[in-house]
Amino acid sequence: MSVITAPILSEEHRMIQESAREFSERILKPNAARWDQEESFPQEGIAAAAEYGFLGLNIQEVHGGAGLGNLHAALMLEEINRWDASTGVTISVHNTLICAPVQEHGSRELQQEFLPKLMTGEVIGAYCLTEPQSGSDAAAMRCRAEKVDGGWRLNGTKAWVTNGGVAGLFVIYAISDPEGRKSYNITAFAVPKGTPGLSVGKKEVKLGLRGSSTTEVILEDVFVPDSYVLGEVNSGFKIALAHLDEGRLGIASQALGLHRACLEDSIQYGKERRQFGKPIADFQGIAWKLADMATELDAARLLVHRAAAMKDAGEFCAKECSMAKLFASQACNRAAQEAVQIHGGAGYTTEFPVERYYRDARITEIYEGATDIQRLVISRHLLK
Ligand SMILES: Cc1cc2nc3c(=O)[nH]c(=O)nc-3n(C[C@H](O)[C@H](O)[C@H](O)COP(=O)(O)OP(=O)(O)OC[C@H]3O[C@@H](n4cnc5c(N)ncnc54)[C@H](O)[C@@H]3O)c2cc1C
Repeated sequence: MSVITAPILSEEHRMIQESAREFSERILKPNAARWDQEESFPQEGIAAAAEYGFLGLNIQEVHGGAGLGNLHAALMLEEINRWDASTGVTISVHNTLICAPVQEHGSRELQQEFLPKLMTGEVIGAYCLTEPQSGSDAAAMRCRAEKVDGGWRLNGTKAWVTNGGVAGLFVIYAISDPEGRKSYNITAFAVPKGTPGLSVGKKEVKLGLRGSSTTEVILEDVFVPDSYVLGEVNSGFKIALAHLDEGRLGIASQALGLHRACLEDSIQYGKERRQFGKPIADFQGIAWKLADMATELDAARLLVHRAAAMKDAGEFCAKECSMAKLFASQACNRAAQEAVQIHGGAGYTTEFPVERYYRDARITEIYEGATDIQRLVISRHLLK
């Protein structure tokens, strides 16, 4: 059993937190509503994030990165998602699901070519696991990788790819042994943009995260050299799941940022809006909602920080990562519901950002493992 309950933040943790807060208030706060309304990718946000070092946070110093851990990333992502969840998911996926596997499982050639570009944002990464017919049951994928001379030929369609329209490097999971046991027959491939046969399909029109690019990715006889295989052949699903732990911490941190946005805006509105001759926050019905939102935010943050600290300490923590995502995403949705309620009619309009938080919050319970799948992971660990 882990000894980590609530990690104490170091000076370095606080520095990252402060620099992410400064970045988010300066770059994201003034632009987030516009990116959402125009459904435009937060290009300026991503370029500025690269300058702050946020795109290579987890890349080790030997590769020129900051070499920081999951707790640093959680603190950074809470600050970023406080103001813009579209920028938040772009950075989370890029760091946890692309930079991390390329660093840990890529060939030297792949690392040398792509890690510097991933860090500067010259190349943004995309993670291609889901397919139209396989979501929660990701190992039921149909995308095929056939062995050919010097490499592999990929065919299939990937769905719901975050960063799909802007990515320069796609990490793609495909069935490499059709006769093999489910989950042990998948290989991970790194495929650069511009590879013949790789194309970006339809762009999704979404309820929230409207600045984030979400597309299909189509593979038609795409040749990938052996040197662009990540890890061992047929061990790709293990890689996909291992990095999903980090990914889930990223999404749990996104939920913390959105939750905090709902709470802070509701406190401000509650103090300013007057009915029956006094601020609505003076009514116990409103004040108690704020108390519950604040308590759940702290509880969620403790779960996220515990799991991040366990991961940084090298402890096995799939259950704790799932607990953090399960609780933080549900609490965030409860907070978003209450934030709109506290704002009354104003909360139902684009004049106040809570309507965007409400739309953005919804996804935290769906991607990187829906709520039911987190329960599945947690209960499997309890019952084994
Ligand atoms: C905006 C967005 C961005 C995304 N980005 C990416 C990305 O970058 N890369 C990528 O690979 N994928 C991505 N996804 C896909 C995402 O991870 C899937 O949508 C998610 O895993 C759920 O799969 P599904 O949508 O097919 O739902 P389904 O698997 O069809 O699930 C539907 C419902 O059934 C429930 N369910 C399924 N199985 C069980 C079970 N065993 N027990 C109980 N309930 C169950 C689910 O919880 C859910 O409520 C993204 C999705 C969205 C919407």
